[in-house]
Amino acid sequence: MRVSEHLFHEASKSIAGGVNSPVRAFRAVGGTPVFFARAEGPYLYDADGQEYIDYIGSWGPMIAGHANPQVLDAVRNAITNGLSFGAPTAIETDMAERVKTFFPSMDKLRFCSSGTEATMSAIRLARGYTGRDTIVKFEGCYHGHSDSLLVKAGSGALTFGVPSSPGVPADLAKHTLNLPFNDLDAARALFAEQGDSIACLIIEPITGNMNMIIPHEGYLEGLRTLCDQHGVVLIFDEVMTGFRVSRGGAQELLGVTPDLTCLGKIIGGGMPVGAFGGRAEIMDMLAPTGPVYQAGTLSGNPVAMAAGLATLNALNADGFYDRLAETTHNMVSGVVDLAAEAGIAMQGVSAGGMFGLFFADNPVTSFAEVTACDEDIFKRFFHAMLSRGVYLAPSMYEAGFVSSTHTEAVIEKTLDAAKASFQSL
Ligand SMILES: *Cc1c(COP(=O)(O)O)cnc(C)c1O
Repeated sequence: MRVSEHLFHEASKSIAGGVNSPVRAFRAVGGTPVFFARAEGPYLYDADGQEYIDYIGSWGPMIAGHANPQVLDAVRNAITNGLSFGAPTAIETDMAERVKTFFPSMDKLRFCSSGTEATMSAIRLARGYTGRDTIVKFEGCYHGHSDSLLVKAGSGALTFGVPSSPGVPADLAKHTLNLPFNDLDAARALFAEQGDSIACLIIEPITGNMNMIIPHEGYLEGLRTLCDQHGVVLIFDEVMTGFRVSRGGAQELLGVTPDLTCLGKIIGGGMPVGAFGGRAEIMDMLAPTGPVYQAGTLSGNPVAMAAGLATLNALNADGFYDRLAETTHNMVSGVVDLAAEAGIAMQGVSAGGMFGLFFADNPVTSFAEVTACDEDIFKRFFHAMLSRGVYLAPSMYEAGFVSSTHTEAVIEKTLDAAKASFQSL
């Protein structure tokens, strides 16, 4: 038995489901999860000593590569001063200033410890600011696991949302409405009917939790206009796309400015950090200046800030995103070409260091089209790649990530594995 299998068996006795976050359990692809012991640059090493080229990057944060020497040094320096004070530190301001230079739409921000906290807090703030209860999200977008966001569409587009998980009260879920992504007419119809009772619209401006979908031209602009017309707070959840599709996230890449932005993942460089922020007028509603409550014992933790700041500093290197985008594009187009040679229909998309691969005949632009992809061949491709030392996300609903340490040689090795994998399917 592999060490990983044994470790999963042991973990399952004391940890619910054997994992501390469900997608890690490999339920969507079958088999048991790989347990990792260490990582360096683009590589992961499992408990059996096996090496993998990593295209998950801890679900996004490791954009500057695993065990990045500058990031580790910053953490080592920080810990010698103590781990947490529960009081302000200067590095929090340095970090806020750095984030603002990348995201000019964020006049003010606040740090927390996860993406879930960031979106949950941004929604409370938008509700407090507007005095309205209704929120709008999009089918297939994920914004963390807070109650108001674990909600799916009811029976019709303009009806109440219903809980997508037991434990979420229907009385709460009814305040969350769902729209289809990339369908501006549906948004227009909803806003015409209920726009003046909507507090906020929250969206992944480029999706990553129903695999990667880039919005149609004009779509985000259209949503921006609707929000302006009805006094609705537009929230971009850039927990995944922030610092990932470009330094200033999807809002920089696509040129649409939200009222509030949520950040996570890369902002902590592998440590637990989230942030939300935006227009000063809205942010000043937060306690202690305003009445909307939000807090955190470990928010702005100095060790986590040190890891985040060192990671954001790495992103300032000349040509960082040009190189990252080129590497990512080369890998994706290489894989798609190899699939075609093997007679397998595949679509690929990428921006910055984020990519999506789909087993589909045509480009994928909606949640319905993602669910229509060939899941059976995805599962077989996933395992074929894994057995050849390439670690892809264990679900066809996840986007993938490339780091600055994925060199041309690493991409070549990946394409060799893909070629052999396609031949084996
Ligand atoms: C990962 C993710 C979250 C949740 O962040 P956590 O740190 O896991 O709580 C929220 N929104 C998006 C878009 C994400 O990708």
